[in-house]
Amino acid sequence: MHVHIVGNGLRGSGCRLKLHGWHRRLADFMLHQLGMTVSWDRAEFDETYVELLLRWLRTSALTHAVILAHEDVYHEDGSRIDFGSMFIPNDYVLQLARTYPDFLPGVSIHPARPDAMDELDRCLSGGAALLKLLPNCQNVDCSRPAYRPFWERMAAAGLPLLAHTGGEHTVPQYRPAYADPATLQLPLECGVNVIAAHCATKSGWNDPDYLPALLRMMEHYPNLYGDISALNLPLRSVGFTTLIRPEYHGRLVHGSDFPVPVQPSWAHWRGLLSGDAARFLAEEPNVLERDFHVKTAMGFPPEVFTRVWGLLRLDERHETPEN
Ligand SMILES: [Zn+2]
Repeated sequence: MHVHIVGNGLRGSGCRLKLHGWHRRLADFMLHQLGMTVSWDRAEFDETYVELLLRWLRTSALTHAVILAHEDVYHEDGSRIDFGSMFIPNDYVLQLARTYPDFLPGVSIHPARPDAMDELDRCLSGGAALLKLLPNCQNVDCSRPAYRPFWERMAAAGLPLLAHTGGEHTVPQYRPAYADPATLQLPLECGVNVIAAHCATKSGWNDPDYLPALLRMMEHYPNLYGDISALNLPLRSVGFTTLIRPEYHGRLVHGSDFPVPVQPSWAHWRGLLSGDAARFLAEEPNVLERDFHVKTAMGFPPEVFTRVWGLLRLDERHETPEN
């Protein structure tokens, strides 16, 4: 339920990529470890990325992937801010999901946009399965009272919110304070099923660790979940040592955060995976498959990988798989 679409739009997908400095090198590294042979600034990049993702998905244990749009950054007055390194339009992910039934569309709409409600209705008609936001990167104060009708419309439509929580270093942050899961109270109170991406773990050395606060919030909000995407990384992997405890499994959903790297050595280093398993899984070229096997080998039960079917907004094309 957490797979990124990336594109440069050079052949009309509508995507934009603006990479500078170390984000450029990070993008090169991430694409290289996926097995991408086409650079992100080439005209054929967008199609090649989708082909590679489909190939890894269809040769993995996963049946589907929620692919994510990526919204621009907005002021609270609804004006757009020229900030951020990428834009992936809703129409592109909606169209990809119509073309490939193994993709489910995760749209992205900043609730301050003057046309936010119309865009939400349009995306719901288009089959949106989930809505993704990065509050700290896109400047979304989720608990701002003016956004209540937006969350209420999502709750009425059964559309879950996937919200980035914890620090972020792959795309630039506009308001780091909005990485705090405490800012998700209003959508939770409006009845939206909210999934805190990465379970609010820290990404950089200086980021706060919001995982304990997230777990306390889960006691208050039965509609709050956490995804275990991007945890096979140096710092975020510390979250595994808590989340592997069975008492938390009932609120966890599996996410991949493709194209983010999956490094099994960190789970081994934290005593959760044998050295043999870590070495064996590091050789698996398919990152979606590698991530799935690292997590199952650590002891995350099957329901963590299927729970999301009960949270997504599905249309008649998508029957919930038996397993
Ligand atoms: Zn992500």
